[in-house]
Amino acid sequence: MVHFVGAGSGAADLITVRGERLLEEADVVIYAGSLINPELLKYTRKDCDIYNSAEMTLEEVLSVIQKSESEGKTTVRLHTGDSSIYGAVREQFDELDKLGITYDVCPGVSSFCGAAASLKAEYTLPNVSQTVIITREAGRTVVPDRESIQSLAAHQSTMILFLSTSLTEKLQKDLLSGGYPAETPAAIVYKATWPEEKIFRCTVGTIHQTVTANNLRKTALIIVGNCLGDSYLRSMLYHPDFSTEFREGNQ
Ligand code: SAH
Repeated sequence: MVHFVGAGSGAADLITVRGERLLEEADVVIYAGSLINPELLKYTRKDCDIYNSAEMTLEEVLSVIQKSESEGKTTVRLHTGDSSIYGAVREQFDELDKLGITYDVCPGVSSFCGAAASLKAEYTLPNVSQTVIITREAGRTVVPDRESIQSLAAHQSTMILFLSTSLTEKLQKDLLSGGYPAETPAAIVYKATWPEEKIFRCTVGTIHQTVTANNLRKTALIIVGNCLGDSYLRSMLYHPDFSTEFREGNQ
């Protein structure tokens, strides 16, 4: 049995209770070494075999899993954040299906949620934005043309950019030409929820300058949108005049 486990965004105690239990029980752990807090490995048993997938190919990961299966062992494949976001898990699922190896998935706290907590932000504010776009600037990995930053920027919704801190010159141009005014609030969160976390608040017009001046090349998210600004309408849900299934309003 293989368990894909979301490790959470950084702080070791942000793994789920289920994820921690699976780590404690595992015979073999393959973890994404570049982004996972090594503190999490302290939950594993002394005799657990640990592999760092940052140094491995998909084929090597699969062969470790296959060997573990043939010995009747349990493997945890530990992914950063939540494995559904840029986790390269689908290709593993499909290969395991072909091999007839059973697996399940334990969700994790994605870094975009960790960053919201660090920023004390709400990505969906009434009258500001009710949509969160999770995307990346096109780099070595191809992004379909119809999902260009420029076209997504036309919505002026909340946008979370993964994997884009080395591409901010182009990113900033695309955000501006796509439709965000230069003064739209933005933030760069470096290593959200890690002890060394840093937050830089800026605007769409100063993203590139902020990233270069602070040398934020890796492990950072760029968050854009008026949800980071000061104006919004209060929610109807908790308004005294508003009735709900659970509460009678004044009107
Ligand atoms: N599955 C992960 C994302 C993996 S892609 C998740 O759900 O968070 C790797 C990218 O995620 C990094 O380049 C960076 O853009 C972002 N990232 C991961 N952890 C981060 C953190 N703690 N703080 C800020 N960005 C992070």
